Amino acid sequence: MIKENIKQVEENITDACKKANRNVEDVTLIAVSKTKPVSMLEEAYESGCRHFGENKVQELVEKYEVMPKDIKWHMIGHLQRNKVKYIVDKAYLIHSVDSLRLAEEISKEAVKKNVTANILVEVNVAEEETKFGTTSEAAAELIKEISMLPGIAIKGLMTIAPYVENAEENRQYFVKLRQLSVDIMHKNIDNVSMGVLSMGMTGDYQVAVEEGATYVRVGTGIFGERDYTAVSK
Ligand SMILES: *Cc1c(COP(=O)(O)O)cnc(C)c1O
Repeated sequence: MIKENIKQVEENITDACKKANRNVEDVTLIAVSKTKPVSMLEEAYESGCRHFGENKVQELVEKYEVMPKDIKWHMIGHLQRNKVKYIVDKAYLIHSVDSLRLAEEISKEAVKKNVTANILVEVNVAEEETKFGTTSEAAAELIKEISMLPGIAIKGLMTIAPYVENAEENRQYFVKLRQLSVDIMHKNIDNVSMGVLSMGMTGDYQVAVEEGATYVRVGTGIFGERDYTAVSK
């Protein structure tokens, strides 16, 4: 089932790329495996997935320990400063940086471990009150400040669009995020790249690809619905 799902998602990405005249190599599928058991991740791995996304530090670390070492782990969830030390050398990309304080902690731990932490700045382009992320207005200034920290490299922007029935409703937010990344790129800030746009989930990733996503984060569309009723360890 997982194998077929991945194939379907990849076909949909290819179609969206064709529609938008984009190169399919420029879009990477992240299999969002939060709450799912290792056996399901293994099936995705065997189907060719090498990028996995998790939103909890402990879960990412546990899976990191047991899964093959060529996997690139994406931290996509809200990150608490006291947990940065556990993942700074394990996450390939941290998608959810939305404050200078968090960036400072990442910088400190990265320097300590002698690594460079690759990060995205999370922007709440839809201005939803329930969501994390900096505002579009504050993003450039925040990026300027973060860019001066050692041990940290800004690779682009991430957004979580609202939950909607019709994916077209989110097109405006994907357009906004891309425009914001172009604006910031034009500021030519040292040590800042705007090559990455992490946007699009199960309900709307085709639209996100049409609007320039370089990473799409797909959970349900690969692994099925998540069960949050199970008691967490
Ligand atoms: C859970 C999650 C996803 C995947 O959501 P689906 O709708 O299951 O594809 C993507 N991005 C983030 C940040 C998430 O927390």
